[in-house]
Amino acid sequence: MLNIGCHLSSSKGFLAMGQEAMRLNANTFQFFTRNPRGSKAKEINPEDARMLGELLTGNNFAPLLAHAPYTLNPCSAEERTREFALLTMVDDLKRMEYLPNNMYNFHPGSHVGQGIEVGIGLIQDTLNQILTPEQSTIVLLETMSGKGSEVGSTFEELKQIIDGIELNNQVGVCLDTCHVHDAGYDIVNNLNGVLEQFDNIIGLERLRAIHLNDSMNPLGSRKDRHEKIGKGYIGFEAMAGIINHPALRKLPFYLETPNEPEGYAEEISLLRSLYNE
Ligand code: FE
Ligand code: FE
Ligand code: ZN
Repeated sequence: MLNIGCHLSSSKGFLAMGQEAMRLNANTFQFFTRNPRGSKAKEINPEDARMLGELLTGNNFAPLLAHAPYTLNPCSAEERTREFALLTMVDDLKRMEYLPNNMYNFHPGSHVGQGIEVGIGLIQDTLNQILTPEQSTIVLLETMSGKGSEVGSTFEELKQIIDGIELNNQVGVCLDTCHVHDAGYDIVNNLNGVLEQFDNIIGLERLRAIHLNDSMNPLGSRKDRHEKIGKGYIGFEAMAGIINHPALRKLPFYLETPNEPEGYAEEISLLRSLYNE
């Protein structure tokens, strides 16, 4: 079975997200740990978390993906901004243990003119401070499009970050199809070649999740504007190839396309129909 879901609003709590996912014919989902702009998180209701856990187990859900606020910058030039990213991630990981054995994705950050090497060092410092041997959550670095001074738009940069993390068995990668395409990886005409590169540089065992998005812009544009499935430069045929690829087909796929819930439901049923059981 295809493991697929979409990004859901967490404003009504945990169980409500699980129920919404079921309604959309999803068997996983992504959610923000707090307001995406990074404000204070709501208090966790342990009973709500427990009930979601029961729904997930009872319905054979694939792992959930929590997404850190996208405004966090662990490799900022400002100490206060880095400190804020660190404290937010520590708090998020503590909260994730109410829903054990899931995943937490974050954007590595932007080096804002300090250079890639300095940026990578700061991201490593952050991860080395937040990871604990006890946590059950796997932390994922998201592949970035390379807009501005983003770190993590090449497999080499992600590999270098991971190599500097002590507890790196708790670290993986989330591949965003729009981002890698915009970063210049030709997943439309050469998916095999891109995955071979990923395997040679990072190792496919690190690949834990896929953000499935089409792109509004051409290959290598470094833009990061998500499009509905089949409506952009990646297209239906490539999407079908991605969800069915032997190296990817068992992974969980998360849609972050510009849709209301009903649009997500349509994309989920379309992708399920394209999946070779
Ligand atoms: Fe993201
Ligand atoms: Fe993404
Ligand atoms: Zn994006």
